[in-house]
Amino acid sequence: MKTPQASIITIGDELLIGQTIDTNSAFIAQELNRLGLWVRRRVAVGDDREEIISALREESKNSSLLILTGGLGPTADDITKPLLCDYFGGKLVRNQAVLEHIERLFEKVYKRPGALLERNQKQADVPDNCLVLHNPSGSAPGMLFDQKGIICISLPGVPREMKELMTTAVVPWIKENITRPFIVHRTLLTCGIGESMLAELLHEFERTLPAQISLAYLPNYGMVKLRLTGKSESRTGLKEQVDDLAQQLAVLTADYLVTDQDLSMEAIIGQLLLNKNWTVATAESCTGGLIAHQLSSIPGASAYFKGSVVCYDNEMKEDLLGVQKKTLQEHGAVSEQTVTEMVEGVRKRTNANVAVAVSGIMGPSGGTPDKPVGTVCVAVSNGDKTMATTLRLGFDRARNTQQTALFALNLLRKLIVSG
Ligand code: AMP
Ligand code: MG
Repeated sequence: MKTPQASIITIGDELLIGQTIDTNSAFIAQELNRLGLWVRRRVAVGDDREEIISALREESKNSSLLILTGGLGPTADDITKPLLCDYFGGKLVRNQAVLEHIERLFEKVYKRPGALLERNQKQADVPDNCLVLHNPSGSAPGMLFDQKGIICISLPGVPREMKELMTTAVVPWIKENITRPFIVHRTLLTCGIGESMLAELLHEFERTLPAQISLAYLPNYGMVKLRLTGKSESRTGLKEQVDDLAQQLAVLTADYLVTDQDLSMEAIIGQLLLNKNWTVATAESCTGGLIAHQLSSIPGASAYFKGSVVCYDNEMKEDLLGVQKKTLQEHGAVSEQTVTEMVEGVRKRTNANVAVAVSGIMGPSGGTPDKPVGTVCVAVSNGDKTMATTLRLGFDRARNTQQTALFALNLLRKLIVSG
């Protein structure tokens, strides 16, 4: 079976001038991909009739599914609806159900006093040659045209409304009406090895992959996600085959493997802590609370995250964590001795089972010959065991900070796994 091909056309001048980042395409592409449809192109065009029509013509040549977002609002710059109506040879008719929905929305949800404006009433006019997709939380309905072998779906630009329509209307419609191959993904997360070295390690594995299964490398800030994708006309055995290969990948990358699930570093740490019924605390100098922020970004983190001491200044390290003045004087704030006292201090004061501490020079200034910019000390402790280590990073301030947080979290993860 040939994989059905799709194009996403996002509409709006704001996308072209960089005022709004096109997040709609990414969401739609993920959804379509999950359904086994190949997104062959993503095109952004302005609020311009000729440009929109030319994109529709061009994309219809090779894609049987077009998904559009934007241009459905009540203002003059929103031209998608009448344009599509013309393009597909229909005429606009008032839809009573949509009108009642808009009236209810303005009265009960937006609580706008007075009669419904003409421009809002007009949002209930829909082409008579499309399937109207109900937009529960917005006034612009979605539209689905099914003509000459092409499906064209138009959705509002507002990301929240677009997402709701995708999940409640578009995805179910596609499942029902478009024949597609089965797609299975498995994603593993590695840390501490670059993508080139990883590719060397997996060279033989990749060479022997069956034709219907592919491997993708997705590097990001010191971590690489490995995604296995299996695509087949038949569901039978596909998931098992991908699972088996994921297992092989996990063995091959064991030294660097963070998780064989599609989870972030902080999410997997959360799971590990929950499983052990442990708590964690952080003491942060150079990361300014970033590690705490990442740990607490996971829903339910209150079950294991005790808190953090952000002690940028030496006095704070002494007062809040009990770091000895002598240690700071003899070894400096960026030293394995200092982070050791920081991690033990925060663990004791918070009663956490495990803790992590960092102190470093993020740059661009502040380096010395023996402690250049990028020198970072990290310590982790579980009470029985405290380990400290020094990193020599070579990036700019922002990336040094990110890398430090990541390294610290990975060290913490290893400590939890080992204990
Ligand atoms: P519209 O349906 O064109 O009136 O768009 C309404 C709002 O949705 C715009 O003001 C943008 O802020 C937002 N928006 C439109 N298109 C996109 C897109 N492709 N990605 C993210 N946001 C968008
Ligand atoms: Mg617009």
